[in-house]
Amino acid sequence: MTPAFRQGFFMHFADANEYVCAIQELYRSRNNFTMSQFTNHNFSGQKALVRVDFNVPLDKATQAITDDTRMRAAIPTLQKILHDGGSVILMSHLGRPKDGPEAKYSLKHLVEHLHALLGGNTPVFFADDCVGDQAYMTAGMLKGGEVLLLENLRFYKEEEKGDKAFAEKLSKLGDVYINDAFGTAHRAHASTAVIADYFPAGKKMFGLLMEGEVKAANKVLKEAQSPFTAIIGGAKVSDKILILENLLDRATDIIIGGGMAYTFIKAAGGKIGNSLCEDDRLDTAAAIIKMAEEKGVCIHLPSDSVIADKFDANAETSGAPSDHIPDGWMGLDIGANACDQFSKVISQSKTILWNGPMGVFEFDKFQHGTKCIAIAVANATQNGAFSLVGGGDSVAAVNKFGFEEKVSYVSTGGGAMLEFFEGKSLPGIAAIAD
Ligand code: AMP
Repeated sequence: MTPAFRQGFFMHFADANEYVCAIQELYRSRNNFTMSQFTNHNFSGQKALVRVDFNVPLDKATQAITDDTRMRAAIPTLQKILHDGGSVILMSHLGRPKDGPEAKYSLKHLVEHLHALLGGNTPVFFADDCVGDQAYMTAGMLKGGEVLLLENLRFYKEEEKGDKAFAEKLSKLGDVYINDAFGTAHRAHASTAVIADYFPAGKKMFGLLMEGEVKAANKVLKEAQSPFTAIIGGAKVSDKILILENLLDRATDIIIGGGMAYTFIKAAGGKIGNSLCEDDRLDTAAAIIKMAEEKGVCIHLPSDSVIADKFDANAETSGAPSDHIPDGWMGLDIGANACDQFSKVISQSKTILWNGPMGVFEFDKFQHGTKCIAIAVANATQNGAFSLVGGGDSVAAVNKFGFEEKVSYVSTGGGAMLEFFEGKSLPGIAAIAD
């Protein structure tokens, strides 16, 4: 066993075999499918060019990382390559630089933390450009077990434009291309999609994170066991129309909660007081209700709500039927009856997709409904259902209540997961899978 092997994640294993078996087991249990191209590939002596999503939030003043979830999510992929004896060349974007390099968006702010996440003994080098002589030279000298982090891809406009020449330049940095950036899989950028054209079959593949995401999403979209319940919440109907339409062909039950429920309730003739409502979407909401009836999909709206006299953490609160909310009051969470109503549907499900909170869970007074649903999803999962939580705020909610280990899969890709569930082909996936 090399000293490099006994680092971080690996410290728990006696030898390399034990580690590989553990990874295989983890992989099987998490994804319930056979070993992947990535897991079967031996990276020994190879330079793996890995597209990761290290677009982590940084403190404005100190540039310290405030949430490293995205970095941690990529570590198993990197560890496997390093453990094989390969070297890793990392490409990522960070923030939204406007016009070329900006110090605050430099990936050099991440080097130290990456070094720590890899266990503290893996050499991590940094190239202050993602192409050009220094990048090529450092990549060329990289030895097995070493890591090179390249500077922010979006310092070049060519990245987001999907420029072929730029993609080709990037491709020269590695022998094999790994896409592990599910968060940007819905973008046809140079490093996420176009670059795959410059690697032959067998030299381009998904990393563990990306594969896990795709398999989990497919389990819900293509292999869902019935009853399949989709729980859709959050603020706006307009953001969720495509996903709702796509789910009408797949789900048996659709639970609608959060602010968007009130547009549906008003469309069905309810009185919603000052609750959030998109009046220009009333027809769409009515059409979705009608389509659901025609297709035999059961739409569940919250029977009651926790109402507030203003949108404020310290607002006065009361309870009301969701279709009889007094003027001057607004629904900011689903009520106790709705919690029971929704929990019952969830408990009978075999497949569950959850996107969007049931209320303004950021305020303690209005977090109860979302927490109830998290408990119901966790219980159903324990009873054998497959549950996937995807999309920004529902993930934040599950994390806030400490339920991330109690559901089958928590997606890291907000926009990408949404587009996946809208039924769109994601360029980052198509570039490798097709
Ligand atoms: P989305 O990004 O569309 O999933 O929306 C998430 C946001 O919806 C969260 O910030 C919630 O606070 C907000 N939200 C959930 N329920 C309500 C509600 N009843 N009224 C207003 N905002 C809500």
